[in-house]
Amino acid sequence: MLPLNKLLAAKDIMYQEGDITISECTECGERFPVFIFVADTDMVTTGCVALTGKSNDIILAIQGPEESLQDIEVRAGSNHKIVGATYEASAAAQTGSFQKYLKSYQPAVPTYTCVYCGGSAKVIKHETKEQFLNYGTIEVLNGS
Ligand SMILES: [Zn+2]
Repeated sequence: MLPLNKLLAAKDIMYQEGDITISECTECGERFPVFIFVADTDMVTTGCVALTGKSNDIILAIQGPEESLQDIEVRAGSNHKIVGATYEASAAAQTGSFQKYLKSYQPAVPTYTCVYCGGSAKVIKHETKEQFLNYGTIEVLNGS
C-alpha cells in the first residue's frame, strides 16, 4: 500500500487529469460516459481505474497491489463497471501494403463495452471534465 500522503496526492492528480468520452451503444441505444486519464507520463496513471455507473456517475479508484479489477468493481459497488475497450485496426492495416498503411494511418478508435447490455458502444463526443460535471458526478473512492 502506498503511504497515505502519496495516495492522496495520486488521488488529487487522477481527479484533475482526465477527459470524458461519451459513448452510445449500437445495440440498446443508451449513452454513458467513460473517464479517460490524461497525464504526461504513464507512471502517473498506472493503477488508476475509472468505473462508470448508470446515472452519469463516475468513480475513480486506485488499484491496490493485490487487487484485481473485479475486486475494484466489488469495492465500488455493483452498479459501477470498469468499461472495457477494444481497438480496431484500420482496414488498410489489415489488407494493404505497409506503405498504404502509413499513408492511411489514423489513431485506433476505441469501441467500448456497454455498461447496460454488454453490447458495443461507439464514441459520439468528447467533453471536458467541467462540461460533464454540469450534469454528472465524479467520485474518488477511498482505499480499502
Ligand atoms: Zn447497450
